[in-house]
Amino acid sequence: MILQSGARVAIAGAGAFGSATALILSRLGFKVTVFDPAPPGENASGVAAGMLAPAAEAVFDAVSRGHLPVLRRARDLWTAFAQDVGIALDRQGLAIEGDEAFLAKVEAALVEAGARFSRTPTGLFSDEDWRLDARSALSTLRGAAIAAGADFDARGVAAFSEGRVTLDDGEVLAFDALVVATGGGGGQGLAPELAALTPIKGQILRLETAMAEGPVLRGQGVYIAPGSRPAVGATMEAGRDDREPDPAVVEPLRIAAERLRPELAGAPSVIEVGVRASTADGLPLVGKSRVPGVILAAGARRNGWLLAPLVADMVAAYLTDADPGEDAAAFDPQRFEG
Ligand SMILES: Cc1cc2nc3c(=O)[nH]c(=O)nc-3n(C[C@H](O)[C@H](O)[C@H](O)COP(=O)(O)OP(=O)(O)OC[C@H]3O[C@@H](n4cnc5c(N)ncnc54)[C@H](O)[C@@H]3O)c2cc1C
Repeated sequence: MILQSGARVAIAGAGAFGSATALILSRLGFKVTVFDPAPPGENASGVAAGMLAPAAEAVFDAVSRGHLPVLRRARDLWTAFAQDVGIALDRQGLAIEGDEAFLAKVEAALVEAGARFSRTPTGLFSDEDWRLDARSALSTLRGAAIAAGADFDARGVAAFSEGRVTLDDGEVLAFDALVVATGGGGGQGLAPELAALTPIKGQILRLETAMAEGPVLRGQGVYIAPGSRPAVGATMEAGRDDREPDPAVVEPLRIAAERLRPELAGAPSVIEVGVRASTADGLPLVGKSRVPGVILAAGARRNGWLLAPLVADMVAAYLTDADPGEDAAAFDPQRFEG
């Protein structure tokens, strides 16, 4: 697909993928409209802990074992991307604490993954993982995309065919291409490749008590991202796409967090819920759909923030017939077919 500057591109979804893509495409001179019926930040991108965490993901998420090289590549793009847009990156790394058996298992996984780490008096430390504030980063991205010329429209995309987008209120608008960045649900019908996605509900606790800034802390079955409202996460409820908070399901996270940091006991908290999407191999669907004119940017699992600049660059490459880079085959939207 070769689109020239000035071509009209619709994006379905204003999460990290859709917003980063809107910024990159607008700067390339495309006329971009981002459609999303949800209020800004009311999605997985808005509730995420904001970790840009290649090491933690490659070690603590079984499906992401072996993905360290691509996750590192994605993280490294953040340096220039964040500086350019004005998003603050926290590079204080990852601290891992727990009993001997847990630390031995994690150390073996870090070695197997090839992640950089050291032993410390309290456990293990890796400087590979960074962090951002997800909600404010999303708002900054949206502002930057608007400044670059993108429009945001609070309607959903119902269909795309032959250069026409049908919106959920029935209006039909002409666009040269559609980018499907619909996250963990809502895009069904826009591209057959989305059938490869499974929703994964994620609940996260935000504690209403400050915890001194420092590395993200990982223990058995839990992480704590410190700050003014520490994030304690997160559940992985495969097959669930509802956003109902469930205190009973989150309770083990609270108990695990209090075991790690007893001073957090009794802290008031709220539960926030987002729905991720995942493929069987944990990597997203990025590339051309079998539906002409449709590009996919969906299925981010636990890494949507980490992957966003990489995915936005790849979408731009597909639209302009440039080289999508070395991750094209691994992210191929048709890789689960046949
Ligand atoms: C609790 C939790 C913690 C997480 N922590 C991290 C983390 O620390 N680091 C990290 O990298 N990732 C993390 N993630 C994962 C990350 O949040 C997701 O991978 C990422 O936000 C997905 O971004 P997205 O843009 O693909 O989807 P979303 O953010 O879900 O956005 C998709 C948008 O598409 C819209 N939409 C749906 N259907 C339509 C339609 N038909 N038309 C128009 N719009 C539509 C939705 O309303 C939604 O706003 C976490 C997720 C959860 C739930």
